[in-house]
Amino acid sequence: MGAAIRHFTAIGPGDQVFTVNVERDFRYDPYRDFLACAHCGWSPSLLTTRRLDDMAWEHLADSHDATRGRSDQENESVRKARWVVLPLCAVLIIVLLVLVQS
Ligand SMILES: [Zn+2]
Repeated sequence: MGAAIRHFTAIGPGDQVFTVNVERDFRYDPYRDFLACAHCGWSPSLLTTRRLDDMAWEHLADSHDATRGRSDQENESVRKARWVVLPLCAVLIIVLLVLVQS
C-alpha cells in the first residue's frame, strides 16, 4: 500500500462525507499513483488517459450519490514537505550562483 497524498471528498445523502484517496506507491520508479475509495474498496485500473480527479468525482457521484461540497485536498504531510523542499531548493540555487560567480 502506498501513502495517501491527496483526498477527494464529497458530501452524499444524510450529510455523510465520502472520500477517495490518491495513494502514491514509492516502490515503483518512477512512483505510481493509485485511486482508492475509503468506503467500498473501489480501486480502478489507471491504464487510461483519464484524469484522476475526473474518475474520483465520477465514482463519488455514481456509487455514493455524493455530488455536493466537493473538495480536493492535499495530504497535510505532503503539503508540509513541499514547504521544506522549496526553501531548500532556493538556498541551493543561490549557493550555486555564488559559486559560479566567484
Ligand atoms: Zn466507493
